[in-house]
Amino acid sequence: MIRSAIVVGAGPNGLAAAVTLARAGCEVTVLEATETLGGGSRTAELTLPGFRHDVCSAIHPLAAGSPFFSSLPLAAHGLDWIQPELPLAHPFDDGTAAVLYRSVDETARHLGSDAGAYRRMMAPLARRWPQLVAQILGPLLRPPAHPLLLARFGVLAALPAAGLARRAFREERTRALFAGLAAHAALPLEQPFTASFGLVLGVAAHAVG
Ligand SMILES: Cc1cc2nc3c(=O)[nH]c(=O)nc-3n(C[C@H](O)[C@H](O)[C@H](O)COP(=O)(O)OP(=O)(O)OC[C@H]3O[C@@H](n4cnc5c(N)ncnc54)[C@H](O)[C@@H]3O)c2cc1C
Repeated sequence: MIRSAIVVGAGPNGLAAAVTLARAGCEVTVLEATETLGGGSRTAELTLPGFRHDVCSAIHPLAAGSPFFSSLPLAAHGLDWIQPELPLAHPFDDGTAAVLYRSVDETARHLGSDAGAYRRMMAPLARRWPQLVAQILGPLLRPPAHPLLLARFGVLAALPAAGLARRAFREERTRALFAGLAAHAALPLEQPFTASFGLVLGVAAHAVG
């Protein structure tokens, strides 16, 4: 049995690994090259004193909705998720924006003729976020605990985001809202599986903010 471990890097993944090892009874040493912990999730005064900036990550649906982070007593250590009134807005050149509200129905109501298509795509996945996230944020190679849910997700997630947006939606504004989410793939939106980013971030925004 492993009794001690060294984790290199005190970003969110390194710290998660360190906590997991410590919970399993290991003596853990975390090595961090910089002066502060947190890696890409740090906040720092990068400009003027008192003005605190996110160094990398600023929007944390996958932390707020993570089964692992939810298992930690983070609030007892001062963590307080800030929920904006609107989780997401996709701005257009004419000054308007397509808005994602916490409620799938409210979002759909503002998407014109795509209301039904948006609701059909997002609502079943948002309703079952805890089961979905446990599957998609966990190890890949294991039998799915919720095969039908995973199949519903997978059949859409495997597509290129551009293809899914064009096939599922008729309104340019809905397609742009989805494309903006999917662009977090940092890949051309014609690539397979880029739809998964749009789906996961959209569903997470509805489910956890
Ligand atoms: C500009 C930008 C914006 C982002 N926005 C978001 C967002 O809004 N929401 C979101 O969820 N994610 C966002 N991300 C992604 C998020 O920041 C990363 O997914 C997350 O930080 C990865 O965590 P990690 O622990 O794997 O690595 P990191 O956070 O990169 O942490 C690695 C740590 O290891 C240390 N380290 C590296 N090498 C060594 C070494 N040899 N010895 C000692 N220490 C070492 C580093 O100093 C660092 O502290 C963003 C990323 C970037 C770059």
